[in-house]
Amino acid sequence: MLARIGLLGYNESKGRIVQEVLSVKCPYCNEDNTKVIDSRPAEENSAIRRRRQCECCGKRFTTYEKLETMPLMVIKKDESREVYDRSKLEGGLLRACHKRPVSPQQIDALIDQVENAVFNMEEKEVRTSVIGELVMSKLKELDEVAYVRFASVYREFKDVNTFIDELGKLLKK
Ligand SMILES: [Zn+2]
Repeated sequence: MLARIGLLGYNESKGRIVQEVLSVKCPYCNEDNTKVIDSRPAEENSAIRRRRQCECCGKRFTTYEKLETMPLMVIKKDESREVYDRSKLEGGLLRACHKRPVSPQQIDALIDQVENAVFNMEEKEVRTSVIGELVMSKLKELDEVAYVRFASVYREFKDVNTFIDELGKLLKK
């Protein structure tokens, strides 16, 4: 079946970008105006079987719709790519929040916010620096010590002075 792909969304359970089928063209007359007359799960719930009817020519046909998942790629500083991995980000945040009054639930919620922001960009690739800045802006509100720890790893402070500058900015607030 001809299926038009549109609208990148975010699938909570998969943590991935999904593509949804928005409209289907009639295979007989090629018109967009088809309506669904029946839907039922197929292939052990991994697909949906839809019986459709074209509103132009009245012919009926069946589609099988499957969510296509595609992994989000991250671009690292050296321009190499890898698949986005939530657990890596989580690990970095847990280290930054070590012995700080930040709960795992708060870390989880922070990553959710960052992921939503990233997935809403509707890009297939995103730079690690973009993710890092998003994390830092949110971590700053949560715990300043954790923020400085995270920033020191992420921004790779070249020397103690840069680190102190960053601390100074925080203390001035
Ligand atoms: Zn038709």
